[in-house]
Amino acid sequence: MAAWPTADRVVDATGCYVLPGFIDFHTHVGDRIGDFDLADDYESGTRIGIMNGITTLCTFVTQGSLGSKETLRDAVRRAQARAAGRCHSDVAWHITPTTFEPEDWQDLERLIGAGFRTLKFYTTYRKAGLFTDQARLEELFRRLGPTGARFLVHCEDDELMASVDTSALDLSKASSHARLRPEAAEIRTVDALIRLAAECKVPLHVVHVSTISAAEQIKEAHNHQDLTSETCPQYLWLDETWLDRDDGHRWICSPPLRGDRPHFRQLARAGVFDLIATDHCAFCCTDKDTWDGRDIRTVANGLAGLGGLAHLAWRLWEDDPDRAAQELALRLALNPATRLGMSHRKGALSPGLDADVVILDPNGPEQPIRSSLADTHETYPGFTSTLAFKHVFLRGECVVQDGQLTQADRPLGIALQGSA
Ligand SMILES: [Zn+2]
Repeated sequence: MAAWPTADRVVDATGCYVLPGFIDFHTHVGDRIGDFDLADDYESGTRIGIMNGITTLCTFVTQGSLGSKETLRDAVRRAQARAAGRCHSDVAWHITPTTFEPEDWQDLERLIGAGFRTLKFYTTYRKAGLFTDQARLEELFRRLGPTGARFLVHCEDDELMASVDTSALDLSKASSHARLRPEAAEIRTVDALIRLAAECKVPLHVVHVSTISAAEQIKEAHNHQDLTSETCPQYLWLDETWLDRDDGHRWICSPPLRGDRPHFRQLARAGVFDLIATDHCAFCCTDKDTWDGRDIRTVANGLAGLGGLAHLAWRLWEDDPDRAAQELALRLALNPATRLGMSHRKGALSPGLDADVVILDPNGPEQPIRSSLADTHETYPGFTSTLAFKHVFLRGECVVQDGQLTQADRPLGIALQGSA
């Protein structure tokens, strides 16, 4: 029998799974969205994340989200300054340019060179200045494809949504939000974008897939092009009936919650989605509840989710814990690391990579899911989990022990990309 290598410290992982640190590929923290500040900043977002095994948080930098004439590089600097010294996990940013003057293209290429390889675009949100039309997307694909950039797209057809007849809708009802953003809007855009990405031969990542038809389109195209997708726990475990509650406005998010979730879960369980990410976009309780009561479109748009990611992903395969552990290692670690362009550092337990390690006890005490530590409505009331995070290591340092932060006042997280 080979001798144990000498070690400074031995951690007892009896009965636990030892997995690579998780990556939440899609979160919104430390920013303002529409009329509201997000409830989570970098500190509180990475705190609930690391306590639940997320060692890398991916979030967004949007050019001009202050409504100013900000350049993309200034926007990146702004985000980096907000995050510096405050993160309990490592952080990476996806970037969203909103203006396209010659100097903007230069900025973009420089940032891609500095490691910001994932660009995010929206086919909706015209009023917020985020809408990107098909022609612009094609230009972006053709010009930036050769740089190694990867394209993340929020797929909802703006025109189709604008054409929904609102005269027959009671806009004070949360369920009307789902009528205003119909399934067809997602399906049409996913179809168009898959074709465009194939034509331009660029890697496409479809964020927050919510419909069965879009999932099936992706599954089919997946075989012959560089196409990945994610879904989120809210599209797995919550359905449209949550919008019928008296407080249904608290579940307003885009795309909206949908019907027939057992079928959708079957697709997820079979591996249609390369990754599972939260689209965490939490607003404080007062902001979520303060709306005019007449038009559901005035509700702050987004849900908390970060703290629930591992628990709600695990649930898909919970009847087979060994498989659940493998699926999490793939869909919450390896696949997001690869898509982020960080597989040389993150995503696996392998010599030479960062020692981000999660020691997970599947049989811990049953506890309620907690999506955020900020003052937000819980997205998953009544949902519980027995997953316990015994230890979480960030680049070799034990940052969580028995579910508690070991050094709450000394956040060790770093920015993974270069300076802007
Ligand atoms: Zn999002």
